[in-house]
Amino acid sequence: MYDVIIVGGGPAGLSAALVLGRSDRSVLVCDRGDHRNDSSRAVHGFLTREGTPPDELLRLGREQLRPYKVEFAAVPVTDAVRESPGFLVSLADGRRARCRKLLLATGLVDLLPPIAGLGPLWGRSVFVCPYCDGWEFRGAPLAACGAEGAALALSLLRWSQDVMLFTNGGRPLAGDETERLAAAGVRVREEPIERLEGHEGTLERVVLAGGEAEPRRALFLKLPQRQRSDLAEKLALPVDDKHGAETRRRQSTRVPGLYLAGDASRDVMFAIVAAAEGAVAGMTIDGELQAEELAERVRRGSPASPGK
Ligand SMILES: Cc1cc2nc3c(=O)[nH]c(=O)nc-3n(C[C@H](O)[C@H](O)[C@H](O)COP(=O)(O)OP(=O)(O)OC[C@H]3O[C@@H](n4cnc5c(N)ncnc54)[C@H](O)[C@@H]3O)c2cc1C
Repeated sequence: MYDVIIVGGGPAGLSAALVLGRSDRSVLVCDRGDHRNDSSRAVHGFLTREGTPPDELLRLGREQLRPYKVEFAAVPVTDAVRESPGFLVSLADGRRARCRKLLLATGLVDLLPPIAGLGPLWGRSVFVCPYCDGWEFRGAPLAACGAEGAALALSLLRWSQDVMLFTNGGRPLAGDETERLAAAGVRVREEPIERLEGHEGTLERVVLAGGEAEPRRALFLKLPQRQRSDLAEKLALPVDDKHGAETRRRQSTRVPGLYLAGDASRDVMFAIVAAAEGAVAGMTIDGELQAEELAERVRRGSPASPGK
């Protein structure tokens, strides 16, 4: 019986493990190893870790957990069921483990459009978030694409004055969108994209149906996402129509003993925010465990002994 099992060893899960480890809790972190920004060269916007490769950020996180009672299992979690008390968690290697509290830090998957040539450029010069990756391409020819691409194109003007919008054969632009884009100097191409061409991860041109090509250095997409794991739904945690799992105060959920942190709630999807949510979850979980332990001592009439 672990105090806590954390499913997901990204920034959210590792940060929760750190707070719980430093509360002298026994923790098992299970991680499948496919995190959201794993194709990215570097994490940006993370104080003191600016420009660190994503794998290195996680390696440092795991290394700094060594002094604590935190175990790792590089194994997918296939199932979790509520027990009384706690949860029974099934791992893909056949192991089963029990815990008093369960934290889902399982993240999201971006649903990429079927555009030829996109795969090798994803995370290298095709991105979702200009706050993460705009700076490296400041002043370069940029592209916005996808549903709601007009707002994205206008926001890219913060990083470059050479911005084009590719609607990729999607819904026609509304009149006021066309006006605002024209006023801001954003050119629009409405044909379907035939393919993206690039070299060693760097976008060179967007080729349109009909063969015409527009030279671009980076492309930003407004994408839908889905939960990376089905555990939230298996545990009856509501997932909204944008595929964000519901959280309540301080990363708790409506399911007793179950907590959720990081991108999986689909709030602000930023590594440092995921880490902060993980820290909040860690504190909330330890606080609830302490309250339960105190109630048990009172019930038994035994005096409190800190740290035990
Ligand atoms: C291309 C790209 C670039 C980005 N760049 C930046 C950036 O520069 N700066 C920034 O702040 N943010 C960036 N982000 C966003 C950032 O990646 C996320 O905000 C962050 O990774 C969220 O952390 P998380 O811990 O919630 O989820 P994740 O990092 O996705 O980690 C979730 C973990 O849960 C594991 N998992 C899921 N299901 C299971 C299961 N059933 N069993 C076991 N393990 C499981 C996965 O293997 C994964 O390791 C970028 C995103 C993308 C797509």
